[in-house]
Amino acid sequence: MRTPEKFQPFLTSVIRRNPGEDEFHQAVREVLGSIHPVLVKHPEYAEAKIIKRICEPERQIIFRVPWEDDRGEVHVNRGFRVEFNSALGPYKGGLRFHPSVYLGIVKFLGFEQVFKNALTGLPIGGGKGGSDFDPKGRSDREVMRFCQSFMTELYRHIGEYTDVPAGDVGVGGREIGYLFGQYKRITNRYESGVLTGKGLAYGGAQVRREATGYGCVFFADEMLRAAGNGLDGKRVVVSGSGNVAIYAIEKIQQLGGIAVACSDSSGYVVDEKGIDIDVLKQLKETQRGRIRDYTEARRHATFVPHRRVWEVPCEVAIPCATQNEISGEDAATLVANGVIAVVEGANMPTTPEGIRIFTEAGVRFAPGKAANAGGVAASALEMQQNATRDSWTFTYSEQRLQQIMQDIHTRCFETAEEYGMPGNYVAGANIDGFRRVAEAMLAQGLI
Ligand code: GLU
Repeated sequence: MRTPEKFQPFLTSVIRRNPGEDEFHQAVREVLGSIHPVLVKHPEYAEAKIIKRICEPERQIIFRVPWEDDRGEVHVNRGFRVEFNSALGPYKGGLRFHPSVYLGIVKFLGFEQVFKNALTGLPIGGGKGGSDFDPKGRSDREVMRFCQSFMTELYRHIGEYTDVPAGDVGVGGREIGYLFGQYKRITNRYESGVLTGKGLAYGGAQVRREATGYGCVFFADEMLRAAGNGLDGKRVVVSGSGNVAIYAIEKIQQLGGIAVACSDSSGYVVDEKGIDIDVLKQLKETQRGRIRDYTEARRHATFVPHRRVWEVPCEVAIPCATQNEISGEDAATLVANGVIAVVEGANMPTTPEGIRIFTEAGVRFAPGKAANAGGVAASALEMQQNATRDSWTFTYSEQRLQQIMQDIHTRCFETAEEYGMPGNYVAGANIDGFRRVAEAMLAQGLI
């Protein structure tokens, strides 16, 4: 969506004030592309300079993370936590450990998180953090030492009423365990609600691990139903093979779809009989291996090195790897091969050019801030359980998640209709997320 003329000078100032942070500029531009009609309806938001305030993080923390590898060599990484907006609740959002992490990535993710969290309807503000540390190839002990050093600085900024981190790319159950252990040791407080995505053995919640992938597929099913019939019988391609991809594939198969391909940075596998979820879990969760080895257990499957998974024909595409992984060219290939719906499991995986191509071709498109909100929603449910020292069953937790995803779908769908853009989930999500945050900010005065 193009940035309306009116916002152009503001966008220029955002770019000037945040130099070199391309992903952050992209995320801001994308939201500005949708919200002009809200300001027309609510002049009080413009008067209170809500847009200017919403695009400026409340606080940004950057710190040194020194640690020692198994050979005794010292490394120094950079740690980040961007506390973006607390209008709706404590800052909430994951930590990403990946060599690509720098301030611009953390700010884009934090900015997206503000609207995503608002869409869940749960009391959580938005934040994000991480480090340029690369966990790939590191031993458990190295990862532990890194997490302990990271938390030795981070602990002073977080708390169950302040800021509640969780996982993201490169941060799963193992890392959250080490981070929690160190927080507890430094503070001498068993503060369960300070981190989410914890293990079930020590305050974690059922369905948190599955939630982003499951939620995304619940959303896909709703969106397809709104246009005819659901996922049942549909051919699906998923990118990535991490936590989001694994549980998206599991739910696709449970709902009668057939997920035929998934990928990692070395290439993709195609399994025409449907990706075998047990093999995938064994490979990725237990062995932390590469996707090429999938074909050792499933001989009929094919591994295609160094190519784009989007060349595999499908009706539904679910990008679950990383930002900007669907280029304009990939989008054109998907459209030519008959894709009818694209549902973002990752954060901002489609480039603006890709979104334009899908929209013009009439492909139903669900943006990540709506479609992948299941993860953070389940985190908010984990916080609820921690606060009441309760733990819910798997079945009940999954019902709650499904209801939340259905509600988000309804809100996006109805908001788009209300603003005269039926079927435009990008507009629906941006407008509904924005007005929830804006209303709370307005009510809380100029802070
Ligand atoms: N990293 C996830 C996201 O992008 C989950 C965040 C959380 O659970 O706090 O929404």
